[in-house]
Amino acid sequence: MPFRSGFVCILGRPNAGKSTLLNALVGEKLAIISPKPQTTRNRIQGVVHVPNRKGKGKHRGNDGGQIVLIDTPGVHKPDSSLGRKMMVEVREALEGCDLVLVIMDVTRKFDPRDQFALDLLRGPKTKAFLILNKVDLIREKSKLLPLIEQYRKLYPFAEVVPISALKRKGLDALLDMVIASLPAGPAYFPEDQITDQPARFMAAEIIREQVLLNTSEEIPYATTVIVDNFEEGARLTRIAATIYCEREGQKGILVGKGGQMLKKIGTSARLQIERMMVTKVFLELYVKAEPGWRDSRRFVEELDWRRQLEHRMLERGTPALRTQEPSSEERRVSADAGADHDRNQTED
Ligand code: GDP
Ligand code: MG
Repeated sequence: MPFRSGFVCILGRPNAGKSTLLNALVGEKLAIISPKPQTTRNRIQGVVHVPNRKGKGKHRGNDGGQIVLIDTPGVHKPDSSLGRKMMVEVREALEGCDLVLVIMDVTRKFDPRDQFALDLLRGPKTKAFLILNKVDLIREKSKLLPLIEQYRKLYPFAEVVPISALKRKGLDALLDMVIASLPAGPAYFPEDQITDQPARFMAAEIIREQVLLNTSEEIPYATTVIVDNFEEGARLTRIAATIYCEREGQKGILVGKGGQMLKKIGTSARLQIERMMVTKVFLELYVKAEPGWRDSRRFVEELDWRRQLEHRMLERGTPALRTQEPSSEERRVSADAGADHDRNQTED
């Protein structure tokens, strides 16, 4: 059997576990995850390099392949400019993919949001698997049967696969089935590359994740992060970013007493970005109130990192994308580099 490859889209309602599955399959954290719905706003592409494996028992095995996974924002009826942009991301991701993984949370009842996901499928008539996620939370596996019945009536799924993305159960079997369903094809990405996301975008997402994890109530939905400056050096990456919120009161919470909250968010984010960049990171964080940004088409378009990159490339005439891991030489140098940290600043 030949080497197989293709594009596989993960679709499902908010909180079903799409990003957790992407990270588990890629083996590294690409997508940010939080218990709050609508954490993912852009589609995120991850590359899974599947070595060839002999089947044993339940496992079919496979002859090796490459899966380009596309994590999408959770499908929902859009109610703002941001929501509409998220749905455009979903539709674009569905176009031209070889297989769709419809992921559902087995602890939840079927509801209109699940129907909405299935309706999106009908259009392109794509081959789809039904992924039953969070089976670790179900003791009686027979409880899954009526759910499967219900879904099978609604769409002709090629496979139904129970998994736990969190506990990494059932993932090898899933990978074998996915590879078997893909066409013979080349490896689209080199072995050492696991994402097509620019580091700049990943940095913004890491900061946003810390905002989500450290704040509650309406703050997570009211915020977004824009990286204003991103300078990559061999030893040090300098980043300036702004956390936008909608009101002065939210800004107060994000900055915290004596700047404590912003410092906490900044320090945790910096440590993670350092791990990603394999350099020291100097992170400057600002907070700004921008009333109604979620409904502002202009603002939401500015948020789009692809657009941001295009602008920057035009301005500077240099590519702003980092597509390769740093060389071993860069790694070695950065390992013992020193830099100042923790200079998280607030605006005014
Ligand atoms: P998304 O909105 O579909 O991308 O969902 P996320 O991947 O962000 O996950 C939403 C929540 O469900 C997070 O709190 C995850 O830890 C949790 N979760 C995801 N997969 C599983 C699973 O297999 N089992 C359990 N118990 N929780 C899970
Ligand atoms: Mg997500």
